[in-house]
Amino acid sequence: MWVDKLSIKTTIIGDGCAALTLAAMSDKLPNHLIQLVKPDNAPVPIDHMWGFWGAKGLERQISLSRKKWNNWAIITESGQSIMSSEEHPYYAIHRNEWLNYCRSEAKRLSVDIIDNSDFPKDSDLVFDSRPPRTIGKAMLQHFYGIEVETKTPTFDSETAVLMDFRVDQSKGLHFIYLLPFSTTNALIESTIFSTDANVGEFYNQSINEYLDRIYSCTQFTIKHEEQGIIPMGSLKPHDPNIPGIGGNAGAIRPGSGYAFVFIQKQIDAAIELSRNTGDLYFRTPHRKIDLWMDGVLLTVLQNYPEEGPKLFLQMAKSLSGDQFAKFMSGEINWSLRLKVIFAMPKLLFIKGVTRHIFRKRNKGVP
Ligand SMILES: Cc1cc2nc3c(=O)[nH]c(=O)nc-3n(C[C@H](O)[C@H](O)[C@H](O)COP(=O)(O)OP(=O)(O)OC[C@H]3O[C@@H](n4cnc5c(N)ncnc54)[C@H](O)[C@@H]3O)c2cc1C
Repeated sequence: MWVDKLSIKTTIIGDGCAALTLAAMSDKLPNHLIQLVKPDNAPVPIDHMWGFWGAKGLERQISLSRKKWNNWAIITESGQSIMSSEEHPYYAIHRNEWLNYCRSEAKRLSVDIIDNSDFPKDSDLVFDSRPPRTIGKAMLQHFYGIEVETKTPTFDSETAVLMDFRVDQSKGLHFIYLLPFSTTNALIESTIFSTDANVGEFYNQSINEYLDRIYSCTQFTIKHEEQGIIPMGSLKPHDPNIPGIGGNAGAIRPGSGYAFVFIQKQIDAAIELSRNTGDLYFRTPHRKIDLWMDGVLLTVLQNYPEEGPKLFLQMAKSLSGDQFAKFMSGEINWSLRLKVIFAMPKLLFIKGVTRHIFRKRNKGVP
């Protein structure tokens, strides 16, 4: 039920990351009366971790995070890069921790979260946070992970493993993502970049084989499971007639699937814009050139997945920890961009650019 007839009645479809983050900041949009609508047919939410690199403006997210790592690694069969940063550590926050904080802020600010059956018919503005749709046979980042507890010290709790490619590569570009919360407690995810997310028991087998091969660990208890599919590359809105917010308004970084920090940036920018112009809408937080570079990267990974491990390792080796964190968080200037381009194997980059342009022309991929 709207209470103030003078405000702009603003309805957000969804109660996930973007919708609740906005709701928790609704006091910064005093001209808007915001309501969230829980969509019909939404899957039952399951808690999982969001990883992100620390930066100014993320103090609240950092204070609610579970752990930070000043070191992170990218590992292949032929080498490894361990990057470090004091200024931009890698953090992991529980989805539920962030959403519960946002929910309590939303309640304090009198934002209602209502069922779809009560969808307000007299909204002045409606934004849709339901997930965007893929175009054609899109590249997917799909994963399954377990949080394990071991009896004896097993993990290096000081270093997060962002990508360890020492796993079976037969189903696509495949790596293990490992967040060690302590020497006996870690989240281990088997992550695949491919167009087919139907891999059944493959993830589980891969995690078991990895723990055995790399950590000589066969005995552990499973505390939690998580899984997901993040569409990568160009996406289209969930409903072309409703403007989006969050992942549905271009917040997902196409080349990495990271979105948490980009959603915060998108909402901050929308609030700023609204305060300056009076208009409220949500734009992609990514620059065109970075979207284009991610498009080339994805084209390379889709066509030459066997080159993926070498490519990521070369990129990691060419950047400092701070530069890598900034690149992954979208804080990219031209010198950093060029460093990344020059780190890519030249022939592969040229092939990727050519194929990407050809693909765009034929399929209209933006
Ligand atoms: C398991 C997992 C791990 C991730 N890890 C990271 C990470 O480490 N770092 C990072 O930066 N990003 C990560 N991401 C990506 C990104 O941060 C999330 O997808 C983020 O939640 C997107 O926020 P959103 O508000 O756009 O969408 P969501 O939070 O997904 O909210 C979407 C809304 O639509 C509803 N909905 C969903 N599906 C349907 C449907 N089919 N029909 C109707 N309604 C629907 C939901 O109930 C919700 O209300 C991860 C994503 C997943 C799934």
